[in-house]
Formats: sequence, C-alpha cells, structure tokens
Amino acid sequence: MKNISIWQDTVNDNNKYDELNENIDVDILIIGGGITGCSTFYQFKDDNRKIALVEKNRLGSGSSSRSSAKITFLQEDIYTKLNNIFGREKAYLYYRGEKEALKIISDIVKNEKIDCDFKTSKSYLYTLDSSNIKKIEKERDIVASFGEKTTPIKKLPNNIKVESGFYVNNTYTFHPLKYIKEIIRKSISLNHRVYENTKVIKIEKEGNSFKCYTETNIIKTKKIVLALHYPYFLLPYLMPLKCYLEKSFLVCSNVKKSYDFNAINIEKPLKSIRYYNDYLLTVSSSANLAFASNSKKMVDDLENNTNITNYDYVWSNYDLMTLDHLPLIGYIDDNLILSTGYNTWGNSNGILASTIIKDLINNKYNIYKELFDIRRAFNKQKLINYPLNIFSNLYSFIDSKINKNKSFYNGNPRFTRIDGKAVAIYKDEKGREHIIYNKCPHLCCSLVFNEIEKTWDCPCHGSRFDLDGKCIMGPSNYDISYK
Ligand SMILES: Cc1cc2nc3c(=O)[nH]c(=O)nc-3n(C[C@H](O)[C@H](O)[C@H](O)COP(=O)(O)OP(=O)(O)OC[C@H]3O[C@@H](n4cnc5c(N)ncnc54)[C@H](O)[C@@H]3O)c2cc1C
Repeated sequence: MKNISIWQDTVNDNNKYDELNENIDVDILIIGGGITGCSTFYQFKDDNRKIALVEKNRLGSGSSSRSSAKITFLQEDIYTKLNNIFGREKAYLYYRGEKEALKIISDIVKNEKIDCDFKTSKSYLYTLDSSNIKKIEKERDIVASFGEKTTPIKKLPNNIKVESGFYVNNTYTFHPLKYIKEIIRKSISLNHRVYENTKVIKIEKEGNSFKCYTETNIIKTKKIVLALHYPYFLLPYLMPLKCYLEKSFLVCSNVKKSYDFNAINIEKPLKSIRYYNDYLLTVSSSANLAFASNSKKMVDDLENNTNITNYDYVWSNYDLMTLDHLPLIGYIDDNLILSTGYNTWGNSNGILASTIIKDLINNKYNIYKELFDIRRAFNKQKLINYPLNIFSNLYSFIDSKINKNKSFYNGNPRFTRIDGKAVAIYKDEKGREHIIYNKCPHLCCSLVFNEIEKTWDCPCHGSRFDLDGKCIMGPSNYDISYK
C-alpha cells in the first residue's frame, strides 16, 4: 500500500524547474505553486510584465496534489449556508462564480489541449440518513432556483441506495498534478519564470514595492500574490484565529467497474467519492485539525464508515476553512494579495481566484471582489464561530504539549531530550533511526507522529515533516532535522 496520493504516483515528473540562485527584479511575484498560484501564473501568460512564481517544494506538492480532484459547483449544502448567512443574492453570486470557474477550466483544457484526464461528470448530493431529507430538499430547491437542472435520485449510479439525493450535470473531474504542470509549461517564457525549491522566508516593504528574501537571494517586486494555502506571514493579521484547518483521509481502492460520476453526502461522517481509471477514491473521517492528531484512529474510522478495508493508496489532506464559508481573496495590504480559505473546494475557487487576482492587479472591476473580500465585515456566523475557533486553537496547542498520543506509539517513536532539546526518534523497518527536533518552527507546537503516512505533523497549523525532518507541507519555513 502506498502512502502518497494517486496523483503524485501517476504524474510524469520530467518538468523540473531550477531553484532561484540570483537576485531578481520582477513586476509581480506569485508565492506558491498550487492550483491558485499556477492558475494565476497562467492568467498572466500574455502579459508583458516580468512575473516570477516561486514554490518552496515542487509545483503542486501542497494541498492541490492531495485532493479528490473534483471540479464542481455542488459543494455539500453551501448554498443553504450562504443563503442563511448572506441572503439569496450572495448565494447566487457564489454559484455564478463557481459556474464561471468550471467554464474557465474547461476552455483552458480544450484550447490548450491539456492532457489531464479531464472528464465531464455528474455531481451527486445525497444523504443516507432520513433525518437529513429536508436538508437535501432545501439545497436542491435553492440550486434549482438558480436555473440549474436538478434530478432527484433514490440510488447512486453504482447502485448504492440513498434516503434522498439529486444530481446536476456538467461538472468535472481531472488529474490535478497533470493540469498544474501542463498550464505552467504552456505559460513559461523569458519574462515569466518559475522557480522550484525556493521558499520566501521574509517579506519587507520598501516604499511602494517589496523585498522578498529566500534562503539565498532577494526578489524585488512591485506586487505580491500570496498563493501559499496557509499564510504563515499573517501572524499580525491573526489568521490562525480567523480560520481553521480541516483534515481528512483519502483512500483509493481498485474496482472492477468504474463510473463517470462524483458524489458527496450532506452529513458527517463524510463519504465523498469519485472514480479515477480503475480506482474508487473515497474521502471520509474529516475533522478540525485540533482534534485529528490520531491518524491511525482516523483511518480506522474511515474503514468503519465506508466498509473499505482493502486499498492501494492512503493519504491525508488539509484545507483552510473560513468561519462564514466564503473564500478569502483580495488585498491584505497595498499591492499584497492573498487567496485561500476554500473550504475544501479549492479547484474551482483557486481557478476563479486567478481571474479575480488578475482584475485586482489590473485595476479592473470584478463582480466577485466584494463577496470574497478578506476585510469583509463580521457577520452572525463569524461571531458564533470565532470563540469556538479560539478554543480549538488553544486546545491543539495545549494538546500538542501534553502529546497524549505517545502511548499509542508503543515506544516507536521514542520521545527524549538530547542536549536539553526535545527530540523524537523513529526506528524504521530496517532498524535505521531517524531523529528530529520535536518542535514546529512555525509557532512552537509539539509534533505528533502520523503512523499512516510516516510523517511528523503539527496539530496546530498543519506543517508536516518527513521522517528526517524536511518540511513537506504547511506554514513552517524551516526543517526540523536533528544535526
Ligand atoms: C480531503 C480533501 C479533499 C479535497 N477535494 C477537493 C475536490 O475534490 N475539489 C476541490 O475543488 N477541492 C478539494 N479540496 C481542496 C483543495 O485541495 C485545496 O483547496 C486546494 O488544493 C488549495 O490550493 P492552493 O493552491 O491554495 O494551496 P496548495 O496546493 O497547498 O499550494 C500552496 C503552495 O504554496 C507553497 N508555499 C507555501 N509557503 C511557501 C513559501 N513561503 N514560499 C514558497 N512557496 C510556498 C506550498 O509548498 C504549496 O505548494 C480538498 C481538500 C481536502 C482536505
């Protein structure tokens, strides 16, 4: 069984980009090479300005290579939620944006002839619980009132009986890494450069422009797009208190028959599915990261929830959740744009964000600017969720210090101190010891061992490190390798 995503395992990795090894001066710097950063880079393909994209690992190595890779506007009961908080007009605007994103990607794939296993599929929303029938009907009514054709169902195309559900047409699935790598390949030019293994560790404002420091060089830029999923720079903006991370495990199992549909249920436990070639991809057992430090238990729960015990791939993914269910896209400072908070729907939202960012940079009107504005006012939902969020942040910090899961490890890894510093030692199957400093460089939380993926994970803000301490994901800009 592999503990990387099926996308990471099935992509041709020939296109590698050099790391930055000189000081450069650009007009626009995009930080982060996931779906948001790469789509934004693509949007500026024909622009005459100098543009650079820097990615701290490899392109797509963050959340974008670990999703279930649906591109759909049917996103659980999002329209009911938005309708309740903001009213019908804004719920409709969100729907319109998602539809626009689907059209954008479908046009790009067609016009650029991008080979990324892009398929049209129906999206299903369903419930297995009779007490949720009304919720399904409400969502269906709202989606139908937007002019969308919705068809009720009693079972999914793979014959699973449901209590209630419906489907919509013309949504998509794709291979996210193939897509990202291809749109970058099509957008590279002398003035538009991409640098992998290049992390920005500090941003300094200098008059109307910025100095961005990597470990070895300086990038001067007039505008910055922060497309880095979890914005570590934003401690002054109290970002960790305004959003939280949700973690889920995904499994891929070989199946005899594959179908062209994707589906998600409206309740917890989550059971979201799609097919890729001969594999059924299932997402389940989602939880606020603060309460998701026991990976083994999460996968046990997934097996219990889904009755899937035989699988070829298992991996986890995180996404940034906002308190009012809307993404955060816009200026956080003069010439500094942030885009994140996609609430597990980052493919469509990352693509839509790229067009909003383009308009913002070009000082053009954009109809979605206000909806996603990062500085939007507090609303009832945010006020209710804010204290809960502060509590979960505090909980994860304290929990990480107590590290109650130690007992689950049966002595491997072992926690000890060397030269007064907290370290953890993991002995692999070959008996080799891997030592790391057991403190996240981001905000000093202790780490928990992810027994499923054999990584060290920060339960506070989602930084992840491999067995030898190299940061593979999340806001930490530093490794924790023991030297
Ligand atoms: C279980 C699960 C399933 C999901 N399934 C779907 C789905 O089916 N459909 C859907 O639409 N969405 C889905 N999502 C959501 C989706 O995966 C994310 O919203 C999306 O990938 C976020 O993209 P991004 O570009 O913002 O972030 P990322 O893909 O994480 O990209 C950010 C990049 O920035 C880089 N970076 C960070 N800091 C720095 C730095 N200092 N310097 C340089 N580079 C840096 C990182 O290495 C990373 O590559 C799912 C999420 C989860 C948790």
